[in-house]
Amino acid sequence: MIKRLFLFLLVALICLTATVVIKTVSTGSRQLQVTPAAPLAIDENAAAQRLATALRFKTISRQGQTDLPEPSAGEFKKLHQHIDQAFPLIHAKLTRETVGAASLLYTWQGSDPQALPVMLMAHQDVVPVAPDTEQNWQQPPFDGVIRDGFIWGRGSWDDKGNLFAVLEAVEKLLASGFQPRQTIYLAFGHDEEVNGIQGAKAIASLLQSRAVKLDYVLDEGMLITEGILKGLDQPAALIGVAEKGYASFTLNATATPGHSSMPPEKTAIGMLGAALARLEEQQFPAQIRGVALDMFETIAPEMHGLNRVLLSNLWLFRPVVQQQLAKSQSVNATLRTTTALTMVHGGDKDNVLPGTADATVNFRTLPGDTQTTVAQHIRTVIANDTIKVSAMPGNSEPSPVSPTTSAAYQNLHKTIREVFPNTIVAPGLMLGATDSRHFSVLSHHIFKFSPVRAKSEDLARFHGTNERISVQNYVEMIRFYHQLLLNSSK
Ligand SMILES: [Zn+2]
Repeated sequence: MIKRLFLFLLVALICLTATVVIKTVSTGSRQLQVTPAAPLAIDENAAAQRLATALRFKTISRQGQTDLPEPSAGEFKKLHQHIDQAFPLIHAKLTRETVGAASLLYTWQGSDPQALPVMLMAHQDVVPVAPDTEQNWQQPPFDGVIRDGFIWGRGSWDDKGNLFAVLEAVEKLLASGFQPRQTIYLAFGHDEEVNGIQGAKAIASLLQSRAVKLDYVLDEGMLITEGILKGLDQPAALIGVAEKGYASFTLNATATPGHSSMPPEKTAIGMLGAALARLEEQQFPAQIRGVALDMFETIAPEMHGLNRVLLSNLWLFRPVVQQQLAKSQSVNATLRTTTALTMVHGGDKDNVLPGTADATVNFRTLPGDTQTTVAQHIRTVIANDTIKVSAMPGNSEPSPVSPTTSAAYQNLHKTIREVFPNTIVAPGLMLGATDSRHFSVLSHHIFKFSPVRAKSEDLARFHGTNERISVQNYVEMIRFYHQLLLNSSK
């Protein structure tokens, strides 16, 4: 009897193993097979200098800023003059409109009036350098230094690198006599780092008032990462097909104020503290679904080792994989609506019980969740009806998910593979907000991708110290936009 049971278990195990192996090796690649793009002659020194000059203008956005303060306005003006001088064909042949205080909208008329236009986006503003960190920069952040094969400075990566790479590509196409089939819009906002309301949103409203619909929108976003995903040897280019929503809520607890010598059973701070502890403890579940599922299914066949086996067999290993993936903070954030306790306030004297205590919790919502589902989650988890829960102004819902089956996505995929051979292309979920979120009304195909190569150690440069881009990578970025516009016109 025991022998029979043992035999049965053995057969079951063999079957299971066989299924896992078959599933692992039979899941086909979703990568487009393409021929690398022909080399493009670029005067890389001259191009690098033009970007370096742009980095010297302190087009800084500061939180809470509603209008451009002097001297920022002057810096934007100087940047615009530099663009006009550096790209004479663009200046001569494209229409330029200024929107809001300093945003730019260029129009390059296409030959086919029936074809939906394309929009390439980038932003002109940069974040400030954090106080007392300037001395940690290897090169000063606003000097536009080119050294050791890198262009150094605030904005080299985010986002003047993309902005100037787009301009270089368009100038080059104009010089070759190229005429696009679709009208090309170039939209360069000036307040992305604060909210994009006066810039990108105003451009979107302007185009909407002209009844414009767009074939696709490409804005800054996810990167070409190297060595970040275990089990994947090739660089991975992630195309952001959606971005998370932003939902801050305040929790307010009230109690009878009084002297601390005779405290009641429940205090405002105690109730609020308990509610916050529960919210941190009982998070939204981590799930491999939606964009995250699409990403892992696309990458799995390109991997090797245990990770390939696990990710190719989510039907079996899903709980283990979810648990493992959630340990990485960045992956965790793609698997769930995150909960972050960010502000708390209550009481101002050590012997007085405050009548009120409040806290702010910032959620970043996955597509599928909304401010309503977050509010429900909070009420269920804190289980205390006396605490007032309210949404803060300025919240936004997650963006719609752009389909990867579209011609626009496939064109982007193809272009990346042509310019960055051996790079794996997959859809991804953008964790931060970009200007392109204001364009959902104009197009269903909105992509967030920067052709910037980054290793783990580079990620801290983003909005951080020693921001830089290699000259070699910058040349690839120019080639990428050049090739994308050529491919789009086919
Ligand atoms: Zn940016």
